[in-house]
Amino acid sequence: MALDSDTFDALIDTVRRFVAERLRPMEEQVERDDEVPPGIVAEMRNLGLFGLSIPEQYGGLSLAMIEEVRVAIEMGRTTPAFRSVFGTNVGIGSQGLVMAGSDAQKSEWLPRIASGEIITSFALTEPGAGSDGASVATRADRDGDDYRLNGTKRFITNADKAGLFTVMARTGGEGANGVSAFLVPADLAGLSVGKPERKMGQQGAHVCDVHFDDVRVPEANRLGAEGEGFRIAMRVLDRGRLHIGAVCVGIAERLITDCVAYANERQQFGKPIAQFQLVQAMIADAKTEAMAARALVLETAAVKDAGQPITLEAAAAKYFASEMVGRVADCAVQIFGGAGYVADHGIERLYRDVRLFRIYEGTSQIQQLVIARETLKRGG
Ligand SMILES: Cc1cc2nc3c(=O)[nH]c(=O)nc-3n(C[C@H](O)[C@H](O)[C@H](O)COP(=O)(O)OP(=O)(O)OC[C@H]3O[C@@H](n4cnc5c(N)ncnc54)[C@H](O)[C@@H]3O)c2cc1C
Repeated sequence: MALDSDTFDALIDTVRRFVAERLRPMEEQVERDDEVPPGIVAEMRNLGLFGLSIPEQYGGLSLAMIEEVRVAIEMGRTTPAFRSVFGTNVGIGSQGLVMAGSDAQKSEWLPRIASGEIITSFALTEPGAGSDGASVATRADRDGDDYRLNGTKRFITNADKAGLFTVMARTGGEGANGVSAFLVPADLAGLSVGKPERKMGQQGAHVCDVHFDDVRVPEANRLGAEGEGFRIAMRVLDRGRLHIGAVCVGIAERLITDCVAYANERQQFGKPIAQFQLVQAMIADAKTEAMAARALVLETAAVKDAGQPITLEAAAAKYFASEMVGRVADCAVQIFGGAGYVADHGIERLYRDVRLFRIYEGTSQIQQLVIARETLKRGG
């Protein structure tokens, strides 16, 4: 662990208070404005949230995975758009660089990523390459000491604010071995970002297309060797999936707390609805599932911190936790009844917000394929 236990406890306590006192009161505003206020982003910078996973030598907090998932669980207790502000810097936007970057690349970028001075994005998905990420068509063709980048990336989180993209592009033939990863600064000529998409939930977190029109990227910006890009992306996603699983646990725990408060207060047939066993059954199921997901996430983080591969475990954690939070959110709407369906209590908003977790960083079907493949490989 990077932090001693007192310092880590203080961090968790600070994040918990930040979520409760600063973020939760702003949930409706962020939903309405589709924007996290700059003052809140500045507070996140001061708390060090952009650098949770960045090594200390580059200005981050260098959290162990077990610590990072505990912070992610705390952040899950509010609208997930807040976590998304720094989520790409902590996860998919920075970790390729942390895992495969040269010393020079790390020194150039990581301090500014850790401080939140620049936002990073991860650009794998394309119009024609979603679940089949190894089929990317964006090309990076050698031209002297540069590569010329051409193509379009789709649904890229934080693209409209990003200063740096990790872009997976084809340098070789078909399939995973033909893909390389590049650090692409947003201000290079020929790079343009589309308008934020309108979407079902998580308002305040933006996704956009990113277009590369003959963008000249120096060879020095390649991450790792030619042909290594897809493997880097998959290692980044292993870690990212675990983080997403943790966020799902936090949201489920928040929803259960909201349900318990409402069920104790709401009276029907002369008593609080919490006293009806059919309502209790919903609370029991939600609680059991949330506990199971929490255990799976924490166990997987411990496996990662022990230096073991987590491809199977992270896929299972993301698969179970994202499906779980969907069921818990559905249950919450039911317990709140009509009040869960209208906007007043924020339950319908979280119901929409959590739908994404079954789709991005690999759909549930892709997690099932990964889990089955790895289980068959391990012989059980
Ligand atoms: C809000 C949002 C943010 C995102 N952020 C990023 C980002 O920052 N960077 C990035 O690179 N991408 C990002 N994505 C893209 C996301 O990872 C993809 O949407 C996701 O991987 C699925 O790809 P797709 O949408 O093309 O669906 P498709 O791959 O077209 O899948 C459609 C359906 O077919 C199923 N399917 C596909 N293949 C199989 C198979 N072999 N077996 C069984 N079922 C299958 C899928 O499970 C799904 O149900 C984001 C997406 C969204 C919506």
